[in-house]
Amino acid sequence: MARYILALDQGTTSSRAILFDSRGALVAKAQHEFEQRFPEPGWVEHDPQEIWQSQLRAARGVLSQAGASAADVHAIGITNQRETSIIWERESGAPIYPAIVWQSRQSAGICEALKQRGMEEELRRRSGLPLDSYFSASKLRFILDRVPGAQQRAERGELAFGTVDTWLLHKLSKGAVHATEHGNASRTMLYNLQQRGWDDALLAAFNLPRALLPELRPSSGDFGAADAEWLGAALPIAGVAGDQQAALFGQGCFARGDAKNTYGTGCFLLMNAGDSAPRSQSGLISTVAWQQGGDFAYALEGSVFVAGAAVQWLRDGLGLIENAAQSEALAREAGGNGGVYLVPAFVGLGAPHWDARARGALVGITRGTSRAQVVRAALEAIAYQSRDVVECFRSDAGFAPDVLRVDGGACHNDFLMQFQADILGLPVRRPPELEVTALGAAALAGLATDFWKNRESLRAALAESGGAGAKIFEPHMPAAQREELYGGWQRAVLRAKDWARD
Ligand code: ADP
Repeated sequence: MARYILALDQGTTSSRAILFDSRGALVAKAQHEFEQRFPEPGWVEHDPQEIWQSQLRAARGVLSQAGASAADVHAIGITNQRETSIIWERESGAPIYPAIVWQSRQSAGICEALKQRGMEEELRRRSGLPLDSYFSASKLRFILDRVPGAQQRAERGELAFGTVDTWLLHKLSKGAVHATEHGNASRTMLYNLQQRGWDDALLAAFNLPRALLPELRPSSGDFGAADAEWLGAALPIAGVAGDQQAALFGQGCFARGDAKNTYGTGCFLLMNAGDSAPRSQSGLISTVAWQQGGDFAYALEGSVFVAGAAVQWLRDGLGLIENAAQSEALAREAGGNGGVYLVPAFVGLGAPHWDARARGALVGITRGTSRAQVVRAALEAIAYQSRDVVECFRSDAGFAPDVLRVDGGACHNDFLMQFQADILGLPVRRPPELEVTALGAAALAGLATDFWKNRESLRAALAESGGAGAKIFEPHMPAAQREELYGGWQRAVLRAKDWARD
């Protein structure tokens, strides 16, 4: 058996490739950034060929770094930026328009028109998603409207659609494979969450022909082979998952109620919701987590728009700190929040508040308020907002995690992690290997190809290579103090709500 699994991690700003060994240990990684295009305000596009070229370069680079060749690679796993959409010609393989990136708002008008036709509720019931231009369907509608003749060509079956996983499969297999898996599919708004398949009513709502769509496969299984031209020998592709789903898998959140939080620019919280599609009353996203072996798992997903970005604002906007890491020492120095709360509603508030008019607020300031307290309030806000989402998990699903697994840049902040544990009243677990997204893709590929026999042997391998080195932050704060602080946060949020005027 070859020594490594190659994970391709195609992100929003860079393409990365990582090699993992059979103990799940990271052997080498390579990364290439690529161009972000902003053709009009609110639009974000990528060149699909550059996505592919940067990904291929990263894959070749990581092999040469490790002094390895294709013969050392057992299988490939792919994880990708989600929702980003590409349409190409089946015959030539050439994209007919740039990739429209998940953040891009260029199809907002299409969603607005559907809202006015009263479609929102039905679309949400079928897809589990709010009617928003984040998801792929309106992006496809935009492309077919924009490119002359494209609608007719799509109807004749001449065009293919893919999210970035599907695009990479297409390139890697030289056009032999047009496929995706259920997790990525569940972000398109064309997928029926209960029926676990493409939905004709959703296609009809966006006037999209079914002929565009890729075949649906399990997340862990046969996705064909990468052509020998790319890495020197044909290699099986055996695992695919969108980035957040891959992180949930890489964190080992296999059981219902297991949850992870990724602390980056924003926060992404996902909780494994078990084998039936969850319904959210709080406006969370219901999504497929994965199909792996006999396990078809759903997840609830909530995000915090501004998390690490608040720390960036302390640094770049206010000049209160020199670097993000310094926030930790200052927060400790403050000793307490001194009654100060920062509500970083810079772009409005998401779940459970859903207030686009909310704006940032700094409340509870007195003459004695110090720089350290303001810095501390920014870190605390990350934890409070994450608790807001965990409360939504609890009320939507009727269950909540008993430990929160963490990753992402800001999880290095021990003050923040301890405060998160305290404010949730739950342990927070930080694994030693923080490349959990790539690890998740590698795990899906490795489980499909007997690199790991089953989840237990995967877990055992990970434990052996340092899983025991996970850091656990136990909650210490008395419940009364926790709820008093959280109550203060909720009052501060009220001050920030409904502020902006058109
Ligand atoms: P992304 O993938 O969204 O770019 P990363 O996972 O790279 O984010 O994390 C970067 C974010 O984390 C930045 O917003 C930064 O301000 C924040 N961050 C990084 N290190 C720390 C730290 N030690 N304490 C607090 N925030 C941090």
